[in-house]
Amino acid sequence: MTVGGWRPGRVVEALPATPSARILRLQVPGWPGNTAGQHVDIRLTAEDGYQAVRSYSLGSYGPAETIELAVDEIPDGEVSPYLVEDVLPGDELEVKGPLGGYFVWRPGGEAPVQLIAGGSGIVPLMAMVRAATDAGAAASVRLLYSVRTAADAIYRDELDGLAGNGGVGVTWRYTRAAPDGWTDPVGRLDDDALRAATWEPGREPIVYVCGPTGFVEHVADALVGLGHPAARIRTERFGGA
Ligand SMILES: Cc1cc2nc3c(=O)[nH]c(=O)nc-3n(C[C@H](O)[C@H](O)[C@H](O)COP(=O)(O)OP(=O)(O)OC[C@H]3O[C@@H](n4cnc5c(N)ncnc54)[C@H](O)[C@@H]3O)c2cc1C
Repeated sequence: MTVGGWRPGRVVEALPATPSARILRLQVPGWPGNTAGQHVDIRLTAEDGYQAVRSYSLGSYGPAETIELAVDEIPDGEVSPYLVEDVLPGDELEVKGPLGGYFVWRPGGEAPVQLIAGGSGIVPLMAMVRAATDAGAAASVRLLYSVRTAADAIYRDELDGLAGNGGVGVTWRYTRAAPDGWTDPVGRLDDDALRAATWEPGREPIVYVCGPTGFVEHVADALVGLGHPAARIRTERFGGA
């Protein structure tokens, strides 16, 4: 039953994803399904009645009643440390959604598609990767994923498994330290890296950019500078500087 749009969601799995992030799977009875790229609001209520609400993207898509979130812990944050460190299978959280109708990808949509993620910004883009793969549209999708180090990549194994199988083309960018043998530059995404790892503007890609606010704004500005029309760039800002 929903009250004010809130449904109870029971945590059925809590899996470590990186040293600071966890994947949470929630069973949400009556969940109406969602399109790749949408998010939910999660509401926590303390024993004294205090409530906190935060938005989390869905790594899952489609009609299943089990939804997937991936949460990266923000040090000193109010909600994310609880979701990453304390929540256990069997616990209940309140869920509202699915929310958002703009930052979404549907099979049969425009092609080619360029996905650019920073940190936990991979989550809604992972739903798009999965949806495109399932729809047989992976060849027209490229993903550029910027992470501090290899250990900080959420969904690392699943993304590595796509390589070379006609799947979504994945390019990694390391901002602090790269794995042994890595020969590409390390550091913040710059024009050269964006040009090399993304569909060229002449192909008229639709571009989805997601991550911390500063990352999204930097990448979106750089893309416009490289010749991508602003109207072809869709952004989702997760907050922070
Ligand atoms: C549409 C949407 C989808 C989102 N999806 C995800 C997701 O899939 N996974 C995920 O981990 N987070 C996601 N977020 C971010 C999430 O909503 C929270 O903002 C985040 O978990 C921090 O909450 P908190 O209560 O721990 O920190 P707060 O107590 O709210 O903030 C503590 C401090 O951290 C800063 N801060 C807040 N968010 C961030 C951030 N993302 N990066 C850096 N600094 C930040 C704040 O400015 C503040 O200074 C999403 C946000 C939006 C708007």
